[in-house]
Amino acid sequence: VRDVTEHDKEGSCLKASYRKEVVQGEAAQVLIKRVLSRNGCWLEKISDPFYIFDVSDLVNKAVIWQETFPRVKPFYAVKCNDNPLVLEILSALGINFDCASKAEIKKVLDLGVNPSRIIFANPAKMASHIKYALSKCVDLTTFDNKMELYKIKFLHPSCNLLIRICCDATEVQCPLGIKFGCNPLTEAPSLLALAHDLGLSVVGVSFHLGSGCNEPAAFRRAIAISANIFQLAQKFGFMNMYLLNIGGGFPGNKNTSLDKIADIVNDSLNEWFPPNNGVTIIAEPGRYFVASAFTLSTKIHSIKKRPNDENHIMYFINDGVYGSFNCILRDHLVVVPKTFYDYSRNRPIHESSIWGPTCDGFDKVVDFVNMPLLDMGDWITFEDMGAYTKPAVSTFDGFSLPKVFAIANEITWNKLKNVMPLTDDHFTTVPIVGIIKMIKSESIKDDV
Ligand code: PLP
Repeated sequence: VRDVTEHDKEGSCLKASYRKEVVQGEAAQVLIKRVLSRNGCWLEKISDPFYIFDVSDLVNKAVIWQETFPRVKPFYAVKCNDNPLVLEILSALGINFDCASKAEIKKVLDLGVNPSRIIFANPAKMASHIKYALSKCVDLTTFDNKMELYKIKFLHPSCNLLIRICCDATEVQCPLGIKFGCNPLTEAPSLLALAHDLGLSVVGVSFHLGSGCNEPAAFRRAIAISANIFQLAQKFGFMNMYLLNIGGGFPGNKNTSLDKIADIVNDSLNEWFPPNNGVTIIAEPGRYFVASAFTLSTKIHSIKKRPNDENHIMYFINDGVYGSFNCILRDHLVVVPKTFYDYSRNRPIHESSIWGPTCDGFDKVVDFVNMPLLDMGDWITFEDMGAYTKPAVSTFDGFSLPKVFAIANEITWNKLKNVMPLTDDHFTTVPIVGIIKMIKSESIKDDV
C-alpha cells in the first residue's frame, strides 16, 4: 500500500516502514493497520474519509479501450482526477493527456511526458497559459471563437489548431455546448476564414458531446458533421487536416459498457474517416478511466431522528458536498451508499438520509434511502467515486480532504513492473476484496 495523497508530507517515512513488512511477507492486515493507525489511532478512532484506489481497475480500462477502439488514441482528461499515481500509471501505459490549464500541463510534464503527448484542450485559454504552452513545446490546442485566434496568433502562432464544434448530445449528464463549441453551420466558416487570413495552422476538428453521454447515436451525428468541416477547411486552404478529436463522454462506472458507443463510433469512423485516409483519431476520455477505480469510505459521527418524523434517521458522515460529494452538485451524480457489514437480516430497515459534516443545511449526500439501522462509528462506502470528486473538493468549515490508498493485485503489479520503475513499497499485492474484508474484520481491532 502506498499513500499517494499529495498533501501527505510524511509519505517517505511511511513507505520505509512498509517495506520491512512486505519483504518479510507479513499479512496484508498489518499493512492496512499501519496505514490506518499511523497517528496512533485505529479505524474506530479515525475521523477522516479515505479512498481505496484499485489500480487494477485503471489498468484494465486501458486494455479495454485499446480493444474497443483500436483506431482511437486516448488523451486522458486530467481534470477528471489528477491523482499523481493515476497520471503516472496512465503515462507508463502510453496514454496521452488532455490538459485544461498551465498547472495541469506542468503536472503531466513533471512526470517526464513528452509535450507531443499533450493536447491543451481548452478553447478559452488565459494568455499566460498559452505562453507557458509555447515555452514547453505544447503545440496542439482547440479554439471556438475569433478572440482566441487573435490571442494564438500573437502568443503561439505556430500552434496546431483544432476547431471545436458544438454537437451536444440530447441526453447528457453535464452539457458542455452551453459554453463551448462553435456552431458548425453559422460560425465555423468565418472562423476558418479568419484562421486562414492570420496564417494559422488548422489541422483538424474537435467536439465533445457532453460528459456522461447517454445518447450513443450523437457520436454518429457529430462524426458526420466533422467530416463536413474537414471538407470546408480544405476549401479555405487548410490542406493538412490530419486530426479528429471525438472528445469525452464515455461511461466509467462499474457495470457500464462501452459496447453500444463503440459500435456507433467505429462504424461512423469507418464511413466518414476510413482507415488509411490520413486522419488520426483521438479522444479525451476522463470518467471512463477513473470512475470505477475509486471507492470512498466515510464514517458516521452523528445520528439523529428527523424533527417531527420519529421513523426517519439522519446520519452525519465525514465527507459531504463541499468535499468528495461535490460531484452531486457539479456532476449531477446520484450516489449509492453501502454498509461495510451486511446488516440486512439482523437489523430493522429504516427510512434514512445521509448528510455531510459542514454546518450548511445544503450539505446533503443522500436525500432518501431505506437502510438497516446503523451505529455511531459505522462506515458507509460509495463506489464509482473516481470521477470529478477529489480535484474539486474544498476545505470549507475546516474538514479534511480524503486520503487515497492505492492497491494492486499481483497480475497488475507484475504488468506495471514492466512499464514503470515500481518498487516494493509502491503497493502490496492484495486484491481489493481482501482489503475491504480486512477493514471490516473484527479480528484486526482485537489485534491492535
Ligand atoms: N475534454 C474536455 C474538453 C472536457 O471539458 C471534458 C469534461 O468536461 C473531458 C474531456 C472529459 O469528459 P468525460 O469525463 O466525460 O470523458
